[in-house]
Amino acid sequence: MRSAPNPLPRIGIGVDVHPFGDDDRTLCLAGLTWPGERGLAGHSDGDVAAHAACDALFSAAGVGDLGTHFGTDRPELAGAAGVTLLAEAVRLGRSARAAGRDAGARVEPSEDGAVATLRAEAARLGFRPTVRDGTGGRHEIVLRECPFAELARRDPGTVCELHVGLAEGIADRSGAIEVEGIRLADPFRGGCRIVVRDADDRPPAT
Ligand SMILES: [Zn+2]
Repeated sequence: MRSAPNPLPRIGIGVDVHPFGDDDRTLCLAGLTWPGERGLAGHSDGDVAAHAACDALFSAAGVGDLGTHFGTDRPELAGAAGVTLLAEAVRLGRSARAAGRDAGARVEPSEDGAVATLRAEAARLGFRPTVRDGTGGRHEIVLRECPFAELARRDPGTVCELHVGLAEGIADRSGAIEVEGIRLADPFRGGCRIVVRDADDRPPAT
């Protein structure tokens, strides 16, 4: 068994800005209410500290930013508490790549090997994949169609990370390949490529 890839912690930096409100709302900051203090304006409760923490989490998870997930196009979030958004951010940040990885690890391996497993799973999801075998033990799984195009255009971080995670889960379980990454294309035209490499062809560890 090879050791789990990516053992490094991921770090994100988040920023958020709100003006003071011109109504009599109470200040909500860092998940606390501050009676008697002037509140901050915003679509939600204006908790800048909680929002910046969400932004940092999204950044670390590589799944977009605050605006991607909690924009004003989500009317159900009007007045939402900062801590509610933070809980949702934790769920989203985890769910994109890690949930994909969990799902990938549950995919039944094909007798024809890990690349075939990945191709079959991509086919099952509707990506109409083809495999290009390259040099140096590299294989490209070309996703000729994206059944999630609408979602991928709206939120490429989450959708594409999910599928990279899926490939990683399949790679983890097989131990025979590792995922180098995904090369993104316009989801409406298709052609995103997941690039994997035979694990045996890795340069020897020193
Ligand atoms: Zn905010």
